[in-house]
Amino acid sequence: MAKRKYRVAGGCQCCMTCRYECPVGAISLIEDVSAQIDPEKCLGCGSCFDACQPGAIEPYEEEEA
Ligand code: SF4
Ligand code: SF4
Repeated sequence: MAKRKYRVAGGCQCCMTCRYECPVGAISLIEDVSAQIDPEKCLGCGSCFDACQPGAIEPYEEEEA
């Protein structure tokens, strides 16, 4: 069964808004490059997606083993 997750696709402006919104601390920052989401921690809540003004975050379906 597929599980919805979120990832940083591109166009990240390193504003860190998403980081403050994430309830589980799954988002870290590669300084001056991009935010990144740990797929192991991501719950798929979509809060970061809703918060990202530039639209740099996208959903995807992760297949469960
Ligand atoms: S909210 Fe969007 S632009 Fe800002 S750090 Fe997160 S992914 Fe990057
Ligand atoms: S979808 Fe939710 S849990 Fe996953 S990185 Fe975004 S805010 Fe965090």
